[in-house]
Amino acid sequence: MKRTNLVIFLAFFCCIHFSCDFLIKKEVPSESIVHAGLPPVNDLAVAKNVIFLVGDGMGLGQITGAMYANGNKLNLERFKTIGLHKTHASDKLITDSAAGATAFSCGIKTYNGAIGVRDDKSACETLAELAKKARMSVGMVATSTIVHATPASFYSHQPQRKMYDEIAMDLANFKPDYFVGGGKKFFDRRDDEKDLIKMMQSEGYTIGNYFDNEFLEMDLPEKGGFGFLTADEDPLPVAQGRNYLLSASVAAIPFLAKRSDRGFFLLIEGSQIDWGGHANDGDYVVSELLDFDRVIGRVLDYAEKDGNTLVVVTADHETGGYSNIQGSTMDSLVTKFTSGYHTATMVPVFAYGPGANKFQGIYENTEIYQKLKSVMDL
Ligand SMILES: [Zn+2]
Repeated sequence: MKRTNLVIFLAFFCCIHFSCDFLIKKEVPSESIVHAGLPPVNDLAVAKNVIFLVGDGMGLGQITGAMYANGNKLNLERFKTIGLHKTHASDKLITDSAAGATAFSCGIKTYNGAIGVRDDKSACETLAELAKKARMSVGMVATSTIVHATPASFYSHQPQRKMYDEIAMDLANFKPDYFVGGGKKFFDRRDDEKDLIKMMQSEGYTIGNYFDNEFLEMDLPEKGGFGFLTADEDPLPVAQGRNYLLSASVAAIPFLAKRSDRGFFLLIEGSQIDWGGHANDGDYVVSELLDFDRVIGRVLDYAEKDGNTLVVVTADHETGGYSNIQGSTMDSLVTKFTSGYHTATMVPVFAYGPGANKFQGIYENTEIYQKLKSVMDL
């Protein structure tokens, strides 16, 4: 290299590595590069109706397993807007469903076991309560008991998730327009000997139960609220004959739409994906996830036609550290679990409809509340 060329090269090298670098650092601190993100998209979007679907314990591993077990296809694949959320609770890195659902319903990090309450056990106002105040209709369908942590965190305020009698009383006082799930005994065989079913019937509710009818045999009332208790305690797994998640979810939509011209908020929980994870039972996980995915398909069909309904599907946490390992084929999955409890892994969020763009990115579970609240204009 000639001497003049060497000087030019050295000057250029110094500019790139020292002065230019210094300039870049000075003008755009690296922290703002990391946190600035992209400009917000469609922030003013408002949807008349929101259908919020929670696959309890549904991580990417479970979704992948169900997809291959189903011929490499899921209704979930219809979503184009996808995000991830961080699930940790206020007191533990590994959340439970109560703290996870309270993050969605109230937008706060709280302790494991908390049902609609803060760390100091004070009640937080939930999305379902705000929706009711705004005269929207509210419904919930679950494949657990209807007093289980996920649905409960939307209408109840109790310091511990196992306070089922108290949670059932909170449901009777909250008065959802529509509810379907198990747990009949917490309504009519209670320690305080009150019969909440009779109490709600006297207030205009039509309430059916598994003992008298199948859900499909029920006529939904033209007026008043509707409830159906699908089991005395926990409903059966779908593989053992439970058959109401799809029909109860599909029936909820026109029912709630008729109840209010302000729109509706419908919570649907595929509760037992989590139970399959706790049992380290891959077939249980997959059958429950496919039952849930059928509902997602029908909900998306409705939202596509309606054009004014936001659909969000997510999980409260992953359960079991599910993965399909070497030796798996599309027809025959080999499944391993790393835990009998929940894990800290981030879980996916899928969104479709007005405001769906807000759900892109990586964020805390509490932001689901903020995003839903803003799209519902509450
Ligand atoms: Zn669980």
